[in-house]
Amino acid sequence: MHDVPESMQGLHPNGTHAGEAEAAPLAWEALPDGCWRLTSPGFSMNSGLIVGNRLAALIDTGAGPREAEAIHRAVRRITDLDLIVVNTHAHGDHFLGNDYFRAQGVRDFYAGNLAIGHMRESGAEQRELVRTLEPEMGAGVGEHTAIHVPAHALGSEPHELNLGNRFITLQQVGSAHSPGDVTVRAGRVLFAGDVIEQGGPPNFGDSRPSQWLRLLEELASSEGSDTVFVPGHGGPVGRDFVQRQADELREAILLCRRLAAGLPAGRGPTDEELSVLPYGPVESRFIFERLVATSP
Ligand SMILES: [Zn+2]
Repeated sequence: MHDVPESMQGLHPNGTHAGEAEAAPLAWEALPDGCWRLTSPGFSMNSGLIVGNRLAALIDTGAGPREAEAIHRAVRRITDLDLIVVNTHAHGDHFLGNDYFRAQGVRDFYAGNLAIGHMRESGAEQRELVRTLEPEMGAGVGEHTAIHVPAHALGSEPHELNLGNRFITLQQVGSAHSPGDVTVRAGRVLFAGDVIEQGGPPNFGDSRPSQWLRLLEELASSEGSDTVFVPGHGGPVGRDFVQRQADELREAILLCRRLAAGLPAGRGPTDEELSVLPYGPVESRFIFERLVATSP
């Protein structure tokens, strides 16, 4: 989940900036092992595409029908194969395009079982998140604006799919960034959703910071030096970047614990006290509150 950047506020109702004739087609970045990445401009959210001989897998569908239509057009420039869809997690910028893809004939949608629960419970919140860029989805009015929740629920066991001469592995890796985060692996490429963030701070609003730290440490230590991690936002990164994100989070958790231990009963930290954390004021408050709420 990410806020709409200031540059995207004041959008023209058709989704483009005033004076902009028509948005340029979304551009794919080719990755190893039949994988692709593209970034939708609104939330700078990455979708992934993995192409086999028989099927293609799309990872994350955008914030609503407007983004989903652009993503679908981009997918059809790469492949005409039938699609399956995987949602990495239950934040609106990643899955509210599902209903558009359902209308294009996609039948198989996958997400973590905990994420599916969160999608069902937090629909109004997710619509509110995307309202500026996807007014129809925000209001729940118009074509392809239903909240389409995946029927295939993933658990913590790896789930392998054969796209035709290309095996991919889907796995619910816990509740780190958000309930029921899922990763998708194809060869050397690991699509990690918002568990990994490049170019912006991690988003802690629905997080479990201690679980998140454990997951990042595991990924950094178990993955090879040639693994290409595709974050939910920002460009692909390597293992060293994941280790740095883990180190920063470990330090932040330590500082939060120290801060909490020194506070008088019944008082939360001030902005100034939170300024020792390595994040901005909003994320610093979120990580502190989520750490307190999710610690035993
Ligand atoms: Zn998210």
